[in-house]
Amino acid sequence: MNIIFLGPPGSGKGTQAKIVSERLGFPQISTGDMLRAAVREQTPMGLKAKSMMDAGQLVSDAVVIGIVRERLSRSDCQKGFILDGFPRTLPQAHALRSALSEMNRQIDAVISLEVDEESVVRRIAGRRTCRDCGKMYHVEYDPPAVVDLCDVCGGDLFLRDDDKEETVRRRLQVYSEQTAPLVDYYTKAGLVCTVDGMQDISEVSDQILKVLGGN
Ligand code: ADP
Ligand code: AMP
Repeated sequence: MNIIFLGPPGSGKGTQAKIVSERLGFPQISTGDMLRAAVREQTPMGLKAKSMMDAGQLVSDAVVIGIVRERLSRSDCQKGFILDGFPRTLPQAHALRSALSEMNRQIDAVISLEVDEESVVRRIAGRRTCRDCGKMYHVEYDPPAVVDLCDVCGGDLFLRDDDKEETVRRRLQVYSEQTAPLVDYYTKAGLVCTVDGMQDISEVSDQILKVLGGN
């Protein structure tokens, strides 16, 4: 099954994509995680992407489409995949459709997570990410056992540069201008399943698994 998670920053895409990935056995493909890895490794692409990410802007379509195309061609995506944070623009959605049609494949479902703006800002302000393994927490809603330390690897938890308030406002504006139109695009294609993302993490995953028919 080929699935897309759509929703504003902080709506829970990464959290839910990871849970669904573990339950259904399809890889989670997060363009944000891949770009952050490139920034950490200081690859030429990472160096170019960093300033856009820090400013809360989108990285160029060409770069992101390139990394997704490469990722989808790997063998672990044969049975299905979960896209988290891609596509984010109409040109990315068109490029995804062409890439999949070249492989005789298509998107089967688009999970659209609905969360109000105030909650999204609160979630992002409290999000903490492990510097070593990338696992995410929330200081209030999903805290680690020991403050500021990762439960899995013991790494330090930090606030992402682009999770600072002024950048978050910019990212929400970019979302409404460039990404929100995709909800319409995929609704017209008959693919959208709307999920109430305001519930607890486990309630949201139960609902997603139900609409995907995996429960
Ligand atoms: P996105 O990938 O859409 O940017 P995340 O999955 O990173 O969003 O979630 C943002 C923050 O909100 C994280 O700190 C996460 O722990 C927390 N979170 C995710 N889902 C929920 C939820 N249903 N209720 C409360 N907090 C949540
Ligand atoms: P995320 O982890 O999904 O919140 O993404 C963090 C940042 O990475 C975004 O604010 C963008 O700068 C960049 N990014 C992630 N995915 C994309 C995408 N599909 N298109 C363009 N930029 C992206």
